[in-house]
Amino acid sequence: MRVPVLTYHSVNIAGNDYADNDHVALAADLRALHRGGWRIVPLAQVVAALLGEIAPAQVERAVALSFDDGAWFDWHDLDHPGCGPQRGFAGILRDFRDETGSPVHATSFVIVSPAARAVLDRTCLVGRGWWGDQWWPLAQREGIISIESHSWDHNHDTLPQTAQRDGRTGTFRSIQTWAEADAEIRVAADWLDARLAPHRASLFAFPYGESSDYLVHEYLPHHGAEHRLRAAFGTTPAPVTAQAARWNLPRYVCGQHWRSPEQFAVVLAEASP
Ligand SMILES: [Zn+2]
Repeated sequence: MRVPVLTYHSVNIAGNDYADNDHVALAADLRALHRGGWRIVPLAQVVAALLGEIAPAQVERAVALSFDDGAWFDWHDLDHPGCGPQRGFAGILRDFRDETGSPVHATSFVIVSPAARAVLDRTCLVGRGWWGDQWWPLAQREGIISIESHSWDHNHDTLPQTAQRDGRTGTFRSIQTWAEADAEIRVAADWLDARLAPHRASLFAFPYGESSDYLVHEYLPHHGAEHRLRAAFGTTPAPVTAQAARWNLPRYVCGQHWRSPEQFAVVLAEASP
């Protein structure tokens, strides 16, 4: 198997062109995938193939989509204060499905803590209450976007306090103890499972794409009964193969690993079997 996992950030809106707006890029990339004969499969299906639960043929010439951080731009059409009306990621997916008849699905890795999102809404967005979680159960029920964990508080450097014991924020490499991992990962899974039942959170994306040896080699592989996850994703630009590391799977990030339709074609060519 060689499955590229593509990552978009719905809050990346600095203009209305492909290079500075992930909504424009996502809409264009979906059509490029369709023209190239790629199928879009749920990320959980890629993990099932990796774990040998389904045949690799089920993810042949397929990609999976993931979104990070879980802000309202994943779901709602919103009027951006600087760049005007923006179609939400969910609407972009539905438009594509209605236009092509192709199945489409994405996984949103959300920042789980409501208190953290309330602060981030002011420090990273424009303070209009655009980081609420009201849409998460709706997305889960519609089946077009699955909700998974991007940690409790992202160990974000604009928060007054995070789960990191020494105040070393702005990186996930500093999550190096059981207590920190438990607060960032297990607590987030508990919160999601309580509110999105019968869905069970089973996937994790490292904030900033960063991990620690403790997380990848100790906590995630050996504390499964606590965190109940099946796989974790970083941001190494490579396709998921049968040999990929289950607790630090690769993903390509829009704006970081490709910035134009031409570069996107290169990503797909590299990932082609
Ligand atoms: Zn993030």
